[in-house]
Amino acid sequence: MATLGPMAMFDLSGKVALVTGASRGLGRADCLALARAGADVVVTDILLESDPHLLQVAEKTSSVLAQVMAAQDVVYAEQTAEEIRQLGRRSKAYQMDVTNRKQVYSVIAEAAAEFGGIDILVNNAGNIDHLGQLVDQSPELWERDLQVNLSGAFNCTQAAWPHLREGGFGRLIFMSSVAGTLGGFGQASYSATKAGLLGLMRSAALEGARHGITSNAIVPGVIATEAFNTSPPGMRERMVLRTAMREAGQPEDVAHAICFLASPEAGYITGVALPVAGGIDLFTF
Ligand code: NDP
Repeated sequence: MATLGPMAMFDLSGKVALVTGASRGLGRADCLALARAGADVVVTDILLESDPHLLQVAEKTSSVLAQVMAAQDVVYAEQTAEEIRQLGRRSKAYQMDVTNRKQVYSVIAEAAAEFGGIDILVNNAGNIDHLGQLVDQSPELWERDLQVNLSGAFNCTQAAWPHLREGGFGRLIFMSSVAGTLGGFGQASYSATKAGLLGLMRSAALEGARHGITSNAIVPGVIATEAFNTSPPGMRERMVLRTAMREAGQPEDVAHAICFLASPEAGYITGVALPVAGGIDLFTF
């Protein structure tokens, strides 16, 4: 897919964005694209590369993917914040577990004080590594996925809400998935949380409208992140073949859609679930 040059991006100068789960993948790409569009960016994740016990922290999250990524040093929150500062924007990385309400409230308050508010919240953090048919799904991982993918977005939205209101320009963006709109074989917990996010997003759209807050979701299909690239090759190829475009999307495809939804130009768009999926939801044979 084509990448946009800086001049073609929507102008987010003077806005402050906070992205969750931003150590790698889509979250990292979102941070960089928002910064290129002019925003100052608060980079948050449960893992930061400066943690001296990265692997032990990853083990505690009970995410196999987190352990693989920590072992391979694919954790870039602080590096991302540094890259954003090099672009001339303000940025800082914060350790923030979206399931820890106390920490969420404290990081969001601290970031809002330091950056002078929060205008854009991208609820990106999510676990995507619980695979197994319904009868084999683990009740513990079902609960974990509800906590991280759904309650985590609720926690961050609730904590950021007063800041989004205060600036008179609020942008909430949730990261759903085609698994949430179409279902996902072997993804019961994941699909349920991604569908749940759409209900949360629409309720926030209804309640936010009177406060200048829009609320929308991205519905990605198959995007070539580090996480996607850990899936077995046969599975990746089958997923890509389901898209009309016969290729995986790039993280920037999602990030550009986020910049648009965050922009002043998208001010009359709310309650929308926008597929960035290369036509994976179209009938093909
Ligand atoms: P990643 O697994 O690479 O990124 C998710 C990030 O969220 C990781 O950095 C992860 O950290 C972090 N995270 C996990 N738990 C928490 C927590 N409790 N608190 C804070 N951060 C946490 O996935 P992608 O970048 O591929 O996906 C990003 C989002 O987009 C997810 O919500 C995913 O469901 C969604 N999506 C992705 C698609 C794709 O094809 N890539 C398709 C559809 C939707 P840790 O290192 O601990 O794992």
